[in-house]
Amino acid sequence: MQTPAISLRERTLAALRDVFGHAAFRGPQAEIVEHVSAGGDALVLMPTGGGKSLCYQVPSLVRPGTGVVVSPLIALMQDQVEALRQSGVRAAFLNSALSAAEAREVERAAAAGELDLLYVAPERLLTPRCLDLLARTKLALFAIDEAHCVSQWGHDFRPEYLQLSVLHERFPGVPRIALTATADPQTRAEIVARLALGDARIFVSSFDRPNIRYTIVDKAEPRAQLLRFLRDEHPGDAGIVYCLSRKKVEETAQWLVGHGIAALPYHAGMDTETRAANQARFQREDGIVMVATIAFGMGIDKPDVRFVAHLDLPKSIEGYYQETGRAGRDGSPADAWMTYGLADVVQQRRLIEQSEASDEYKRVGSAKLDALLGLCETAGCRRVRLLAYFGEASEPCGNCDTCIDPPETWDATVASQKALSAIYRTGQRFGAVHLIDVLRGKAGERVARFGHDKLSVFGVGADLDEAAWRGVFRQLVALGFARVDHEAHGALKLAESSRAVLKGDATVEMRRSVARARSKRSLSPAAAERAGVTALDERGHALFDRLKSWRRDEAHRQGVPAYVILHDATLAEIAHRKPASLAELALVGGIGAKKLERYGEALVDLVASAA
Ligand code: ADP
Ligand code: ZN
Repeated sequence: MQTPAISLRERTLAALRDVFGHAAFRGPQAEIVEHVSAGGDALVLMPTGGGKSLCYQVPSLVRPGTGVVVSPLIALMQDQVEALRQSGVRAAFLNSALSAAEAREVERAAAAGELDLLYVAPERLLTPRCLDLLARTKLALFAIDEAHCVSQWGHDFRPEYLQLSVLHERFPGVPRIALTATADPQTRAEIVARLALGDARIFVSSFDRPNIRYTIVDKAEPRAQLLRFLRDEHPGDAGIVYCLSRKKVEETAQWLVGHGIAALPYHAGMDTETRAANQARFQREDGIVMVATIAFGMGIDKPDVRFVAHLDLPKSIEGYYQETGRAGRDGSPADAWMTYGLADVVQQRRLIEQSEASDEYKRVGSAKLDALLGLCETAGCRRVRLLAYFGEASEPCGNCDTCIDPPETWDATVASQKALSAIYRTGQRFGAVHLIDVLRGKAGERVARFGHDKLSVFGVGADLDEAAWRGVFRQLVALGFARVDHEAHGALKLAESSRAVLKGDATVEMRRSVARARSKRSLSPAAAERAGVTALDERGHALFDRLKSWRRDEAHRQGVPAYVILHDATLAEIAHRKPASLAELALVGGIGAKKLERYGEALVDLVASAA
C-alpha cells in the first residue's frame, strides 16, 4: 500500500527487517532496491554470494503486484520458493516439474493477485499461455536471473534467453532487472544489447569474496593432503573436490569413502539418473563431499558449501574463480584449497599444445595459464593477485595462505644454474624425476644406464632434498626458464631466457616449498570481520552443534534442505549471542517475523537448556 508519509527507502528497509530478518542492506543493495522499487530498469553485476536475490525480492514486496523471476535453474526453483515461504512470502513457481492441475492453481493465484513472487522457466514464460497469463496479472517487475545466458559465446548460453526482449515489447511499463555474476565487459555489452537494457542503470559490485580463504599448497601426496585438509578443517562439512578426469573423479570418491568421508562422484560420463541423484543428495543433505569434474557447476545453488578443493590445476584464473566461487555463498567462512605441482603445469601445457584449436586460441590459452601460474607462485597476497586480474585494486587481505603465513623466498640462482645444467648435460631428453636423481647423486639403474653418474652435475645438488628440487623445477617452468617438450614425453628443455641465468647475468628468487599451509592460524580482527567469522567459545561450539542437529530434524520433518530453515550464519550468531528471550532472538540476522513465530520458542528453549 502507498503511504506517502513513509519514504521508499524506509519501506524497503522495513521489508528487509520484517521479512528477511536482516538489519541492513549490503553494499550496493540499498541503491539497487530503491532504484527498482521506484520503477527503474537495472543491470546488476555482483559476485556469487553477493546478495543478488534481495535486489528483486524486496522490490517485489514493496511494489504492488507480482514480481516475475525468470531463471534457467529449474531444479532449484522449488527450494528457492520454499525458502521464501518460510519467511512468509507468497511465492510459487511454474515449470515442467508441476502437474497440469498444480500449474492451473498457480496461474489462478497469480491472476487473482495472491502472489508476491512467481518463478518461471524461460521456455515456459515464452509460451502464449504464459504471456497471456502475465497480461492478466498485475506485475511488480521482471527479474532476469543468470542474465549471461543470453551470451552466445559463454558456456551457459540458452537460446530462449534471446527471446526475452519480448518482455520489454509486450510489457513496456514494467521495470526489469537483469542479474549476473559474470564480470567481463563483453558479456555485459551483450546483455544490454540483447535484452534492450540500453536505458538501464548498471550496478557493478566488487568481485571480492572476503569470506573465502585461498590456499595453494605444493603437491606432495595429493590424496593424503586432501584427507588431512578434510579431517582437520572440515569434518562433516559439505564441499566440492574438483579433478580433471572422469577416472580420477571415480577413484578419488571411492578412496574418500574408504576413509570414512561421505563422498559422491559426478561427471558427464555417468548415466543421467545417477548423476541427477548425486546432485540432489548434495543439494539437500548435510555434509556431502562431491568429487566432480567441472561438468558440476551451473545450477549449484547450495549456500553452505564450506570448501572447494582442487586436486588438479584449472585452465585459467576465470575458471579457478568461478569454481572456488561456489564456496561460502551464505557469507560464512569457507575455504578454496588447491594442491599444485610440476605435473599440473606439464599436463595443462600439453592440453593446450595438443588441442586441435587455432594458433590464436593456443596463444590465449597459454597466456591464461601463465596468469594462473603467477597466482600459484606468488609470495604476495593471493586475493590482491586475483582481484587485479579482474581489474580491481586492493590491499593484502589477511585471509589467504600467503597473508596468514608469509612464504619464505630464497635466492635460488645457484640451484637454478645446477638444475638448468642438468637439463643441458643430459641432452634435454629427461623429466624432473630423473634430473632430480642425477642432481642428488642417486645412482639408480636408469641413471647408470645413460652414464649420467659420470656427468659433472651428478651429485652437485645433494644439499637440497627431493621436495625442494621439485619446487625448483616447477618454478623454473612456471617462470619460463625451462619448458616442457610434449613430443618427448614431457622432457624438460632450456628456454631462451635460461641463458642469462646460466651465465650468471640474472638472479632467480623462489618460494620455499611448503607441503602444508598452517591455515589454522587465527585471523587479525579486521580480517575476521571481513570474513564473517563469528568467534565461538567452547559452550558456543556445543550449542552450535545442538542447533545444527535441531535444524537437521526440522528439515527432515518438513522435507526441505537444512539451509531453507535457517542458514549456518544465523545458527552461529545464536550460538554466540545466546539470546534469552524472543525479543533478543529477533535481533539475530536471518530471523524475520515469520521465522520468529515459527521457531522462536524452540530456539530460545534450546539456548536455555544448554546454559
Ligand atoms: P547471490 O544470488 O548473489 O549468489 P544470494 O542472494 O543467494 O547471493 O545471497 C547470498 C547470501 O547472503 C544469502 O545467504 C543471503 O541470505 C545473504 N544476504 C544477502 N543480503 C544480505 C543482507 N543484506 N544482510 C545479511 N545477509 C544477506
Ligand atoms: Zn591475502
